[in-house]
Amino acid sequence: MTPPPLAPGGTIGILGGGQLGRMLALAAAELGLRSHVYCPDPDSPAFDVTRHHTCAAYDDEAALSRFVDSVDRVTFEFENVPHFTVAFLASKVPVLPGERALRLTQDRLDEKHFVSSLGLSVAPFAAVDSAADLGAALRDIGRPAILKTRRFGYDGKGQIAIRGETDPESVWSEIGNAPCVLEGFVPFALECSVIVARSAAGQIAPYEIVENHHENHILKTSTVPARVSAETANEAERIGRVIAEALDFVGVLAVELFVTRQNGREALIVNEIAPRVHNSGHWTQDGCLVSQFEQHMRAVAGWPLGSPHRHSDVVMTNLLGVDADLWEHYASEAGTALHLYGKSSARAGRKMGHINRLGLPRR
Ligand code: AMP
Repeated sequence: MTPPPLAPGGTIGILGGGQLGRMLALAAAELGLRSHVYCPDPDSPAFDVTRHHTCAAYDDEAALSRFVDSVDRVTFEFENVPHFTVAFLASKVPVLPGERALRLTQDRLDEKHFVSSLGLSVAPFAAVDSAADLGAALRDIGRPAILKTRRFGYDGKGQIAIRGETDPESVWSEIGNAPCVLEGFVPFALECSVIVARSAAGQIAPYEIVENHHENHILKTSTVPARVSAETANEAERIGRVIAEALDFVGVLAVELFVTRQNGREALIVNEIAPRVHNSGHWTQDGCLVSQFEQHMRAVAGWPLGSPHRHSDVVMTNLLGVDADLWEHYASEAGTALHLYGKSSARAGRKMGHINRLGLPRR
């Protein structure tokens, strides 16, 4: 049963205290909602922006009980929330998006089966549970290919590229004998993503497709408009809708896409689904009336969604590690919005903040 909308003054619990949790809490505050951030890391950037936070392990039942008693809804900023935590909390308050979306997106193999069952394209794939499976899958799929752990992979971690000469036995031991998926290499022209919000009432608001560039497996820039045809842009939105509906999703999700070009024709291949707000959606903070963070909080609170319409061209650039030391420079740049996460140590590659550079407004 759909609970009634949460009125301003209500409290949304957020699992995870990183930059995404921080920006979700800020968006909640803009709507007059309170947030309570739960995270085991005492140095969580999201703790700085809300009066209510709990620093405890995800399996600490006493802390979870106190947390859940203080909130009306729960959401999360990362997909690897332990099953126990979600089940424990969901027995007391709505946890959105639900367990099904989490379960499916925590396992690359289940996710690939699910996406293909919707009639959407994915890279050729095969389950790999041993070095022998890997050899067979490589014969089937061919090289180059990418071996990915089924669980806990992000920013290129838990992945090994297999080229012509690589020996399956050594790859299998390098990946740590973990259950995996082998994927055929997609010769993509561009990497893109689509961010979609779905409300409890079934309203769907897709943002425009965005073009992404990675450096060392970490997102560096996201640009709108993406250099794709109008048909591809529409197809990306359709893919987002189909996935959100099939998951009965409530909140914001991201679908990472490969754009291929062959004989002048563009096609989209689904790489992966993130059941949460996403780095490639940060441009919406300054390029749209309603950002992905506000949209997610609206959905979780049971409110109507806002407009995902883009009013400006945007290039979002992640500030990684010492990039953020140039904050004063970015703060003085005309047409640039600076977002810093308040993290104390700037390890190499660590996401410290981002900038949104705005182009001319669209008519
Ligand atoms: P993922 O963790 O699955 O998002 O992969 C990280 C990055 O690796 C992607 O953004 C791509 O640049 C690359 N990649 C992953 N899978 C494939 C694939 N099947 N074919 C080509 N490149 C891939």
